[in-house]
Amino acid sequence: MRVLISVDMEGIAGVTGRSEVSRGTDEYQRFRKLMTEETNAAIRGAFNAGADSVVVNDSHGSMRNILYDLLDDRAELISGANKPLCMVQGVEDADVAAFIGYHAMAGSFHGVMDHTISSASIYHWKINGNRVAEADINAALCGFYQVPVALVAGDDALMQHLAKTLPETRLLSVKFGIDQYSARSLSRSTVLTSLEKEMRLAIENRHMIAPVHIEGPVTCQIDFSHSTFAETACLLPLVRRVDARTVEVAGKDIIEAWRLAYATVRLASTTDM
Ligand SMILES: [Zn+2]
Repeated sequence: MRVLISVDMEGIAGVTGRSEVSRGTDEYQRFRKLMTEETNAAIRGAFNAGADSVVVNDSHGSMRNILYDLLDDRAELISGANKPLCMVQGVEDADVAAFIGYHAMAGSFHGVMDHTISSASIYHWKINGNRVAEADINAALCGFYQVPVALVAGDDALMQHLAKTLPETRLLSVKFGIDQYSARSLSRSTVLTSLEKEMRLAIENRHMIAPVHIEGPVTCQIDFSHSTFAETACLLPLVRRVDARTVEVAGKDIIEAWRLAYATVRLASTTDM
């Protein structure tokens, strides 16, 4: 049984500020170690549940955050940002997935550093009209490959959302947001012990979770923070302008819709402001 673990950073316990997740700061060096430790706890849980292999996909920012030399030596690591499946690269070769360090979607009450794909340019991301978190998008991509998401760990605002959208998935809150940039985190030992245990239980019970299936055709609607991003996005003829800030793409299935939407967002990010 092959396990993919996608690891973001804003949902790691103790993280509450931008400097902690951004390259070039002293805090960042400390928090990438904490990110690696949470990842190791999840890896231990996966192997305790009988995993044959574990692949970790670094899923934050530059996607070069996890300390390879401190990572559990039984796991393999995907790092670097240019990956077509982005945060779930590697899922094509997995039997089950887990998301660690995940955060609430953009515009969530008490969401810690809440955003969806890009904090700089996106207000909302909708799939077939429903506002989604990164965990929803990634679970849908996993579902395309018939891979269930057994566990999601991160901040509590995300878990309250996912309790509705991924009701079969095991959810673990490691911190409770007060504001976008403040939170109460569980103790370090509690977080690591819980992650290891919840991961083991989640992987053991993976057969009880149905992969997410979204019937095609699938639309992705992106509400940008500025109309200029939408203007740039519409250079692609496949992108439809919904209003000044909002664009929409449609694919025959979630993979096609994702590729169009991801290309749109990456193109928009090149806008000269
Ligand atoms: Zn991130």
